[in-house]
Amino acid sequence: IPPVRHHLERLAAQGIDVVRVTYPDLIGTERARDVLLDHLPSACEHGLAFCRAVYHTSPQGDVVPVPGGLDAGLPDICVRPDLDTLAALPWEPGVASCLGDVTDPATGRPAPESPRDLLRTVVDRCREHGLHPVAGPELEYFLCDAAPGTPQGWRRYSEAAGVVYTAGLRADADNHLLRTLRLLRDLGIGITNGNHEFDGSQFEINLNHSDAMAAADRAFRFKSAVKELARKEGRLATFMAKPFQGAGGSGFHLHLSCVDGAGGNVFADPTAPYGLSTTARHAVAGVLAHAPALAALANPTVNSYKRFGPDTLAPWLIDWGLDNRSAMVRIPPERGSGSRFELRLGDASANPYLLIAGTVAAALLGVLAGEEPAAPLEGYGYDRARSALLPTSLPEALDALEADQGLTGVLGRDFVDAYLSYKRDEVARFQRHVTDWEFTEYAYHL
Ligand code: GLU
Ligand code: MG
Ligand code: MG
Repeated sequence: IPPVRHHLERLAAQGIDVVRVTYPDLIGTERARDVLLDHLPSACEHGLAFCRAVYHTSPQGDVVPVPGGLDAGLPDICVRPDLDTLAALPWEPGVASCLGDVTDPATGRPAPESPRDLLRTVVDRCREHGLHPVAGPELEYFLCDAAPGTPQGWRRYSEAAGVVYTAGLRADADNHLLRTLRLLRDLGIGITNGNHEFDGSQFEINLNHSDAMAAADRAFRFKSAVKELARKEGRLATFMAKPFQGAGGSGFHLHLSCVDGAGGNVFADPTAPYGLSTTARHAVAGVLAHAPALAALANPTVNSYKRFGPDTLAPWLIDWGLDNRSAMVRIPPERGSGSRFELRLGDASANPYLLIAGTVAAALLGVLAGEEPAAPLEGYGYDRARSALLPTSLPEALDALEADQGLTGVLGRDFVDAYLSYKRDEVARFQRHVTDWEFTEYAYHL
């Protein structure tokens, strides 16, 4: 049986009659067409046309210039379903979701703004050096209830303080976490556990580790699913970096290691310094060296930089430490097959494909450069005298990305140019916007 037929029969037997063909745009938003099952073979053969405007439209509806788009008259992009990713949506009977790859119909080649293709390219570069990256994402988010009549329209689900690791109903009055964990399991996301985070309404869910592409696919679907489930209950789940004044931010911590062709962890070496192989130490050095540029992908919004700071458990300085949560790169205590680093830089708003691609690229550059990291941090890490500061704003990080020839070399100039023009437009829109803070600060006294 031809592969599409085979999938068609299986889906029909499961009672599926619609396939949601979905892909991440540049900023990680889920874009989709709901395709009737009968039309799936044709969608696979010809691809699905989408207007390229998705790369040019901000969440507030502004049109953003991205190279090769507006000036070309907003032509089509073509999305090809990847049938290996079909998964029934447990909360939407009759619907399965399927990830797609974005191609340029004129050339049939991957579009430069396609996050999945970017990650594929970076992973292929690692393979050329015998390295196969393995990633494990951890994501935090806040849950909000509708609050009609308030300026934002949403308020935190609970404002309780000191609720980290609080079990059950005492912090989560209607078991949002349990419901979400079970639905994510049924969707096949591959999660291990969830917990209540430090602030009221804030949750963390951990995904198990896998090869880098599967991890990015799962993290992307995870964010969409959590948002969709909350919406179904009239709520808002937000992965923005620092949604509330007076509460902590939401991280996207990324565990990363590399295996060789036989599946052995090449970061393990019990005889080497810190029990970390030369490859692992060089990878950490690469992440430290490229951190300012990496922040442009890991911390992609103007809001992201409000999460950084001393005493936050989010980083502030460019440093690493052995099982030290106050450092930007933490080496968890496991060794052997569990040897890895945890990059705590990223915030939850990061596009998973770009965060993982950027981190893998920085680690690879470190391995190729063969540099050793400075001595790891000891003790509490928020001492400014000890290490360099991370970028303090999105424009600073974007400038660092533009100037980082190593990282832009691996990520590709076309992608970096498209990303910079989108993000610089976002910065310009923000800088023109008059905020509440300014009125409160200036209007009365000045
Ligand atoms: N919420 C913190 C962050 O923004 C992390 C807290 C934790 O260690 O779980 O990264
Ligand atoms: Mg965690
Ligand atoms: Mg956490």
